[in-house]
Amino acid sequence: MKSYSEWQQLSQALRVRHQAYIDGRFVDAISGETFPSINPANEQKLADVASCDSADIDAAVASAKQAFDAGVWSGLPPKQRKKILLKLARLIEQHGDEMALTDTLDMGKSISEMVNIDIPDSVDCFEWSAESIDKVYGEIAPTGDDTLVLIEHNPVGVVGAITPWNYPLMMVAWKIAPALAAGNSVVLKPSEKAPLSALRLAELATEAGLPDGVLNVVPGFGHTAGKALALHMDVNVLAFTGSSRVAAMLMGYAGESNMKRVWIEAGGKSPNLIFDDCDNLKRAAATAAAAIFSNQGEVCIACSRIYVQKSIKQEFMAALLKAAERFQPGDPLDPATNMGPLVDGAQLATVERYIRSALEEGGQPLLGGVPEYKDGQGYYATPTIIDGAHNEMTFVKEEIFGPVLAVCEFETEEEAIALANDSQYGLGASVWTSNLSRAHRVSRQLQSGMVWVNTWGEGDTTVPFGGVKASGNGRDKSLHAMEKYTDMKNVFIRL
Ligand code: NAD
Repeated sequence: MKSYSEWQQLSQALRVRHQAYIDGRFVDAISGETFPSINPANEQKLADVASCDSADIDAAVASAKQAFDAGVWSGLPPKQRKKILLKLARLIEQHGDEMALTDTLDMGKSISEMVNIDIPDSVDCFEWSAESIDKVYGEIAPTGDDTLVLIEHNPVGVVGAITPWNYPLMMVAWKIAPALAAGNSVVLKPSEKAPLSALRLAELATEAGLPDGVLNVVPGFGHTAGKALALHMDVNVLAFTGSSRVAAMLMGYAGESNMKRVWIEAGGKSPNLIFDDCDNLKRAAATAAAAIFSNQGEVCIACSRIYVQKSIKQEFMAALLKAAERFQPGDPLDPATNMGPLVDGAQLATVERYIRSALEEGGQPLLGGVPEYKDGQGYYATPTIIDGAHNEMTFVKEEIFGPVLAVCEFETEEEAIALANDSQYGLGASVWTSNLSRAHRVSRQLQSGMVWVNTWGEGDTTVPFGGVKASGNGRDKSLHAMEKYTDMKNVFIRL
């Protein structure tokens, strides 16, 4: 890992890409409009980024469709597609420091997290998706001797991808690697709050040998570029990661246009259940702190609701407060920093609003509190723990997406499950117990796409990632991700 001063020097020399990437080359927005990309750690401008709208989306979709119809990618032998995506994985790895720096400057996450998590995970995602291309087979239905029924999984055509800012490169990788592996062309609209790494990625994809038009990156705002992509008649599948509010809008746009399939990875309010038979409360507390304070709490699976059994609450809270001391906001370019600034002033205002509402509704602050913003010095919030919380409070119900933890208590297992499930969301849940039967019993009843037992947040490219209820429908990662980007077709032959 490079030192703080080395990252600072590298950041001075960094040249970011800021135009749209359409049909294999960088272009300005047709309107000529731009929007500023701001470093949230010091509020300085990094670049003026092409602000695309429906005209640019039309051009990008036309290029993607033309590439798909021509078969320059979709028609390549699987082995060849595999080679190109593997080369892209290598290029991301080789340019790992540059990509890490780009996301850190663009949205404020710590450089150590970029280097240790986002870059290796993104590389792995491309590698794994590439490796799977020539290992997925079709099926033959068992219909009898006088017929032959082939069940094929074909690419859908043009995939529109819309991504958030909290793990900019990684979320893009989770969408486009399986979509490309399945043979599709992609038009990606990255978040306007962190679009820069996606633009560089597109350039690297061309260098790896991806034919022009197969991957287009169109930066812009949600209500302009995003909406135009979601409404486009030539987009066959929409893959989205972001808030549940916008997810609901996209489903509407799909209904208004061509009924494209909409895959959603949305918000969360994940519960963390700490039972009195947990045999390592110290580890549970350290994990609980990491589950809400890492990446400044800007994590979809953040465990922002703790339900702790009354009999062990005092002991657990002492350990939690101690564990929280490890998280101190600082310059994200310093490898020692584990919490950077929030992404922008709007996010800081949201965090402040929820903390105020928690206090007004009777929450007891144990740590942190309303952020103290200093003009021009970044959008920093501190770890905040609020005790005396219950499910009727606004900050317990709604996703905050910041370092704010609600602590609630329970007495029985049934009560814990009911409280955990009492949410519009169902993304992740953590359960701490040394009783194997309880671990299974509780996991089975939790309304959640993912459950971690005696851990939190662990995953693997082989393991599906996603939620239920307002947290979403499809799954990223694993072979199940590939299913989202293919259409099933039967060919029924009478022999
Ligand atoms: P967001 O919903 O505000 O924006 C996400 C994307 O949608 C952005 O690219 C934005 O420009 C676009 N968008 C906004 N309005 C649009 C519209 N009308 N039409 C089309 N596109 C539009 O979310 P965000 O603030 O970028 O990200 C934070 C959210 O993402 C949180 O809710 C978090 O939980 C969620 N998230 C979920 C996962 C997951 O895997 N479930 C992972 C990461 C983040």
